[in-house]
Amino acid sequence: SIRPPVTKQATTLLVALKCRPLTGAARRKSRDIIRVIDDKSVLVLDPDLSKDYLDRIQNRTKERRYCFDHAFGPQCTNKDVYQKSISSTIAGVVQGLNATVFAYGSTGSGKTYTMVGTKEDPGLMVLGLHTIFDLITKDRSSDEFEVTCSYLEVYNEVIYDLLDKSSGHLELREDPDQGITVAGLKCIKVNSADKILELLNLGNSRRKTESTEANATSSRSHAVLEIIVKRSQRNKYCSQVVRGKLALVDLAGSERASETNSGGQKLRDGANINRSLLALANCINALGKHQKKGLAYVPYRNSKLTRILKDGLSGNSRTVMVATVSPADDQYHHTINTLKYADRAK
Ligand code: ADP
Ligand code: MG
Repeated sequence: SIRPPVTKQATTLLVALKCRPLTGAARRKSRDIIRVIDDKSVLVLDPDLSKDYLDRIQNRTKERRYCFDHAFGPQCTNKDVYQKSISSTIAGVVQGLNATVFAYGSTGSGKTYTMVGTKEDPGLMVLGLHTIFDLITKDRSSDEFEVTCSYLEVYNEVIYDLLDKSSGHLELREDPDQGITVAGLKCIKVNSADKILELLNLGNSRRKTESTEANATSSRSHAVLEIIVKRSQRNKYCSQVVRGKLALVDLAGSERASETNSGGQKLRDGANINRSLLALANCINALGKHQKKGLAYVPYRNSKLTRILKDGLSGNSRTVMVATVSPADDQYHHTINTLKYADRAK
């Protein structure tokens, strides 16, 4: 008999774009320069061009059109984003697959809104957790599940435990069995989504925030919520444990240090934030190439963030990047940077 060739499944990478609505004062002050033209593409209008001109060229211009796996306009909810681009990925975690979901964009573009959300419009972290516990509750097998969670912050290339105020700087360790782990990081056993959300809120209140020129409450850190689902399959012939790991990441603002008009401490923040973001960009870029051509070495080692995320960015894991943008004309340069970054990832 002829056996099919064994193909090691590569990481799948999905890129979604989310454009937030103009809200509050920005609605009067700013012009809307983004058009989501179908469920995969957006058009960015150059804010220096006149409105009439833009209306005329809108359907003909090609240069500023960007396409992704999914594109979500200002009227879309987090649930829309979740159902179309995340939910199947989350379901895999309960089967033992690894996954990483992160929001990338400049400060104020809607990363935290997308990942954490509000009561009326719960974010991807919240929706994902509910799916995990729903699937476990509905599981018809005799398998046993254990869910643990940790929540950490990478700030200035230093790792802090958001669930343990008393802990200091944490170090990464290479464990022969478990791969890269964060030594001393608190892993809490949880049995409901609500319990994790409680921990999430507690952790969020401890995040390092600092005012920048860009946004008074901009977060300068990367926050990584990690959920591990351990599934024990037991019958009279064998016993087996599979482990699915889900990392949900709220990244720091992607704007460049040089663009925020501040020096000293903040500039160093910027440099380090960019180091992790740059390293992530390079990994995502390599994964994108890998997906297309089945090659590429993925450079995980260049930052704390990428080392932490390694398991969820390699092997047969799934990665979802949600690029967030604001439609305001004064955000044009940030928007273009984000779109280019996301485009490079495809
Ligand atoms: P970031 O985390 O990228 O810095 P935030 O998520 O904090 O940005 O969003 C900035 C502001 O915009 C917040 O006041 C947030 O409530 C608002 N916002 C972002 N996205 C949306 C949305 N889809 N609908 C309504 N308000 C939003
Ligand atoms: Mg934020």
